[in-house]
Amino acid sequence: MESVRAQVDEAAAAASRASTDVAVVAVSKTKPVEAIQPLIDSGHRLFAENRIQEAKAKWPPLKAANSDLRLHLVGGLQTNKMNDALTLFDRIESVDRESLVDALARKRDLGAPLPSLLMQINVGEEPQKGGVPPTEADAFAAWAARERNICFEGVMGVPPVNEDPAPYFAWLRDTRDRLGLSVLSMGMSADFGTAIAFGATHVRIGSALFGERS
Ligand SMILES: *Cc1c(COP(=O)(O)O)cnc(C)c1O
Repeated sequence: MESVRAQVDEAAAAASRASTDVAVVAVSKTKPVEAIQPLIDSGHRLFAENRIQEAKAKWPPLKAANSDLRLHLVGGLQTNKMNDALTLFDRIESVDRESLVDALARKRDLGAPLPSLLMQINVGEEPQKGGVPPTEADAFAAWAARERNICFEGVMGVPPVNEDPAPYFAWLRDTRDRLGLSVLSMGMSADFGTAIAFGATHVRIGSALFGERS
């Protein structure tokens, strides 16, 4: 974490941004608790998983032992896993369709406190990725607010691999600004420096922290 944090701070300084403006979300998917515990012991508090079942197996004891841990969901969410998701996660970064907004609104109307929500946008319009199509992002956010009283705190996106991420990051930043939101979750191990230059408030880093996933 120290080396990644130093690189994040350097990228922030190069962009004339305060290092406190960029949070590192440690993406611990596929990694066992033994790999996560040292980061917690060193004081890191913000993590993410991409699968509900895996998060459910790993995180409840960790959260019970460290009440200030924060866990984000960065993978697809099925509405039938909604109860688990609401119990486990402090932020859902992957809200990307009306049925999910409907399910969240229903839970809220039954009294469940909702976590922070981000709209995931499929910036590269890739069929294998989740996310609202970029052309529909503004209308989706407006619909969620108007029809379901669900407001996003920001946007999340993953540019296509093997392409220059800069135009995608610029578009995500402009979209966040246009919608008047605060959180800009973009940048992973391979491109977080560029993401920070384009204004990322949260970089989601897995392999650079935990090693390659098998
Ligand atoms: C796995 C994952 C990451 C972390 O990827 P690395 O390249 O290992 O840093 C970030 N965001 C999402 C949505 C992911 O699924």
